[in-house]
Amino acid sequence: MKVWQCIVCKYIHKGESLPEKCPVCNVPAIKFKEMDAASIPPKPEAKKPLEKEIIEKGSIFEKIKLLLTKHHAHPISAHIPNGILPLILLLWAAAWIMEYDLLSKAAFINLIFVLVLLPFVIFTGRLEWQKKYNASFSGVFKIKIAVTIVITILSIISFAWYIINPDILSSSNALMFILINIVIVIAVGIAGYIGGKLVFKD
Ligand SMILES: [Zn+2]
Repeated sequence: MKVWQCIVCKYIHKGESLPEKCPVCNVPAIKFKEMDAASIPPKPEAKKPLEKEIIEKGSIFEKIKLLLTKHHAHPISAHIPNGILPLILLLWAAAWIMEYDLLSKAAFINLIFVLVLLPFVIFTGRLEWQKKYNASFSGVFKIKIAVTIVITILSIISFAWYIINPDILSSSNALMFILINIVIVIAVGIAGYIGGKLVFKD
């Protein structure tokens, strides 16, 4: 049996032949490097001198970046908007159906919290993408960037629309407003699904 590793996402494939594409990040088979079974364990070891160098000589910003990627700041922070955005949709929908304005205020306050946090989630996502995946522009990363743009823009539109018209949910545009929020939640689901696939490699 041979062992190969995807140079983009570090997925390890064992078998007699290579898959056509990486099952995790979708890059073609040429992006796989054959490994010696013996060379697998020393790999994390090889990373250490670089980390040590950053800790000893790096700027504060470089040290913060190292700490953030080392301690999984992206998946941790991404779970916050991923959890709150579906709640926001439920609150908007309930406010609309039950004509209960307090619920739309609750949705709006949660949305402010998401908008404050999103830049940090995007920043840590970009760091991880550069560090772990060499800023690869393969299919999954294109989708991840696209859904992030969709989530950010639609969240800002939803925020601005509510500021301009706090009675949006009792206006004729209510359905459009709810639809925008459904699209946000679908995009959140896609981003989370790809993130999980990259982390757990299955
Ligand atoms: Zn891969």
